[in-house]
Amino acid sequence: MRIGAAPRVISGAAIVLTVLFAGTHMLTGEPLWMSAVTLNGVYLSATGLVVARAILVRSHRVAWALIGAGLCCYSAGTAYTWAVQWRGGQLPYPSPADLAWLSFYPLAYCGILGFFGRRWPSRRLVLDGAIAGLGGAALFSVVVVDVLLGSSSGQGLAQVVTLSYPLGDSLLLGTLVCQVTAGQAAARRNPALIAGIALFVLADTGYVVLSAQGLYTSGGPVNVLYLAGLTLIGMAAWNGAGTSAPVRAAAPRMAVPISFAVGALVLLTVATRVRLSAVTVALAGMTLVLVVARVFVALRELESVGRERHSEARRDPLTGLANRRAVHEYIDQLLARTARRPIAVLLLDLDKFKEVNDSYGHPAGDQLLQLASARLQQVTRHTDLLGRLGGDEFVLVMSSETLTPDEATRLAGRIRAELLKPFLIDGVQITIDVSIGIAHEVGEDADSLFQHADIAMYNAKRAGGGHVVYQRNDDQESRLRLELTTALRRDVTTAAMILHYQPKLDLRTGTVRGFEALVRWQHAERGLLMPDVFLPVAEQNGLMSALTHNVLTQAIRECARWHAEGRRVSVAVNASATDLRFECFPQQILDLLDEHGLPAKALTIEITETMMLSDWATTDRVLDRLTSMGVRVSIDDYGTHHSTLSYLRRLHTAAELKLDRSFIADMLTAPRSAAIVRSTIDLAHNLGITVVAEGVEDAQTLHTLREWGCDQAQGYHIGRPAPAAALRPQFAQP
Ligand code: C2E
Ligand code: CA
Ligand code: CA
Repeated sequence: MRIGAAPRVISGAAIVLTVLFAGTHMLTGEPLWMSAVTLNGVYLSATGLVVARAILVRSHRVAWALIGAGLCCYSAGTAYTWAVQWRGGQLPYPSPADLAWLSFYPLAYCGILGFFGRRWPSRRLVLDGAIAGLGGAALFSVVVVDVLLGSSSGQGLAQVVTLSYPLGDSLLLGTLVCQVTAGQAAARRNPALIAGIALFVLADTGYVVLSAQGLYTSGGPVNVLYLAGLTLIGMAAWNGAGTSAPVRAAAPRMAVPISFAVGALVLLTVATRVRLSAVTVALAGMTLVLVVARVFVALRELESVGRERHSEARRDPLTGLANRRAVHEYIDQLLARTARRPIAVLLLDLDKFKEVNDSYGHPAGDQLLQLASARLQQVTRHTDLLGRLGGDEFVLVMSSETLTPDEATRLAGRIRAELLKPFLIDGVQITIDVSIGIAHEVGEDADSLFQHADIAMYNAKRAGGGHVVYQRNDDQESRLRLELTTALRRDVTTAAMILHYQPKLDLRTGTVRGFEALVRWQHAERGLLMPDVFLPVAEQNGLMSALTHNVLTQAIRECARWHAEGRRVSVAVNASATDLRFECFPQQILDLLDEHGLPAKALTIEITETMMLSDWATTDRVLDRLTSMGVRVSIDDYGTHHSTLSYLRRLHTAAELKLDRSFIADMLTAPRSAAIVRSTIDLAHNLGITVVAEGVEDAQTLHTLREWGCDQAQGYHIGRPAPAAALRPQFAQP
């Protein structure tokens, strides 16, 4: 109980006054002025506590103001009766005081509903409270009116007024109890309020019974119950006043209405055998009517929950767009309406989204998806359906009588232009591109439309972005791709993957110091396939790690054999971006080196700068570990990517740099290429890095590179990649 100093004092005063009242009046019966002071003092304190709470504390202010107003009426009624008694007068029954007392109930009832805060309480809760109240009143009526009082409970208006009190109390108590069972925080945290109202029930019952038997005297134990109830209500106002309780959504609970429904049914059944008072039967009947209404409300709620679940199951939670299922259903509906209307499906895949996710984190990735979806919504017409299929894949469905492929293509162009504008995320400008596959068809089902758009999208991706419209013969190509994937999945860990080795010539000594292992695939039907055919397939299907492991195993085994024959050469293996993202990659290499007894320094791992774009932390750790094991790290295709210099600074562990063959190819004819080659050699030497020139195809280039101080060279002029068995003469290369 959290009561501030002043409310605590007033509460204390109310308790003392209640005890005093009980003592002076019950024990001595006199004097009247003393009772008047103590009794009205309690009324005043309790009302004051509630009103002060409404004025001073913000949370549930309206609720307490209403209850306070009710208490004001209540106190006024009491003060009035005492004033009349003081003057020795007699009150009729019912009197104006009853009007004042009864006014407490509607005000307090609205106040209790006010605990729901700004949100109007659900119909369900109002009904539950009413059912509990009416049902309680019916039970009260059967006990008091039918059993205890028989026919002495009065007639007409007097009976109605008499029964209104316990009825009002039951309604308040029922509503409070329902709030508690429904998890309403304000009511749950206020047992004093419930106890206060419960005392009112007792007091009013006592009043009805005693006054019907002519035994009621003002100031008896019944009045003590009233005062105790009032004191509790006053204290309840300051119970937990410092916190504004959050309103939790009420959980559907049928226990209260069901138990009262059973009670009311029992009463009505009894009424067919035994004569019960009209009041009891009416109350039980009304309770049942409300229960029926309550069941109806429950069914409606269930239905709307079902509808919500239905629509949630069709929405993408991140962007709020339609999900895959909803898009499929939409296309099915379009086809069901008219199968002859053209439908266009635009499949959108953001390019390099994974890199954004890896470099800037998932929250940034999510934000990008939300911003992208907002832009897409801007360019889509209200007749189109925009959806997100998951990850960075979106879909747009268009349909109209006159829809042409051109129209779909134009929209694709607008979408791309819109997405190419930079996104600002956490203060960083991020630019992304999109690949769009378009299927424009008449009468095709959702599955084929998606399949065709997917093939077109793949072709767009391969073309480096933009949009592509699906053509019939694309099918053939996609079948081949599927076959290739299946075959690669089967072969990737086997000896069907074979290695060719290309020599690296040391320009100072003129000897071959090492070989680069280059993978080929001996395909059962299509013969020897080059890496550019199957590496993208491996990458897209998650086969890259398996491939690298296979290549590493073969390369390390072969090199160990050379070492055993006394040839101290090194071998270089190309890593993929996937490998550098696995923390266990260095350990795998260590195990292989151990297994074949090859020193770590005989192995070079070639990486490209693009591999370092994603997941910086892991990549850096993996590279550091490789270097500390003694494995050399080489930067492949140097010069072909952007921000090369900043990577060179970051890659402080790199031992070698391979200058891309595009610079070597025209260095003799293009002065700019020559300048780049020469200055890169200087730069690398200043950083303590060895330079390898790639793609050396003639003697003149080789000669010039040697003059410029390049360390090593690789290329067709020195030797083409060849199987290990064909390499023997290479070892003797001058
Ligand atoms: P890369 O690492 O730059 O390998 C050098 C490529 O240039 C090889 O092509 C090689 O045959 C070719 N080449 C060598 N000398 C010359 C020359 O004088 N002129 C010309 N025009 N080309 C020359 P290849 O074997 O087709 O490999 C292509 C790419 O495939 C490689 O480029 C590498 O990025 C990747 N690759 C090859 N094997 C593997 C592997 O085992 N794992 C991974 N992850 N990638 C690999
Ligand atoms: Ca390479
Ligand atoms: Ca290269």
